[in-house]
Amino acid sequence: MKPAFSVCVYCGSKPGLEPQFAQVAQQVGQWIGQHGGQLVYGGGKAGLMGVVAQATLEARGQVVGIIPKALVEREMAFTQCQELIVVDTMHERKRLMAERSDVFVTLPGGIGTLEELFEVWTWRQLGYHDKPIGILNTAGYFNHLLAFLKTSAKQELLSDWQMNLVQIDESPLTLLPDLVQKAGLTPEPHLQQI
Ligand code: AMP
Repeated sequence: MKPAFSVCVYCGSKPGLEPQFAQVAQQVGQWIGQHGGQLVYGGGKAGLMGVVAQATLEARGQVVGIIPKALVEREMAFTQCQELIVVDTMHERKRLMAERSDVFVTLPGGIGTLEELFEVWTWRQLGYHDKPIGILNTAGYFNHLLAFLKTSAKQELLSDWQMNLVQIDESPLTLLPDLVQKAGLTPEPHLQQI
């Protein structure tokens, strides 16, 4: 069955210290599954990435994992995905992840996550795509980054228009439906677990 929407999630391949990170990763996966959606992500079982994927599956959502062959072992490819796509390069992974998604959401993560966020953000400002982008600022994880971006705006190196291309929220329960709606799609009514 065709999913109602596809969410690309960028997040850490490690769990991080703050317990709220995993809780929110879990909520994101649950929300996607419960509303008839599909998760598109990096295909690993490790860290917050694994938490989102597992939660999506448990909530009966579809999971598409896209992983470069060089990382299959290192990031522990999640073989339970309905679709696990092994690609040759990181560039191919990122291109496919973007193509297969309707919206992008960034959760706490390290430099891999940040690189992915900034790439889709810059692609959006260049008009390479027009898909909504969100940041889940769980437990204030992104506060310093957002403060830095304000400095950048003050120095007129970043415009309000560019900044407003990304929606920042603390709750997946408001951010996800908003992004999906902005993409012109409708989440299914909350599906009850059997
Ligand atoms: P991290 O946030 O560093 O834990 O990485 C999260 C995910 O981003 C992992 O699946 C990494 O393989 C991926 N990643 C690492 N470097 C890059 C990169 N240059 N471009 C895209 N993804 C990356």
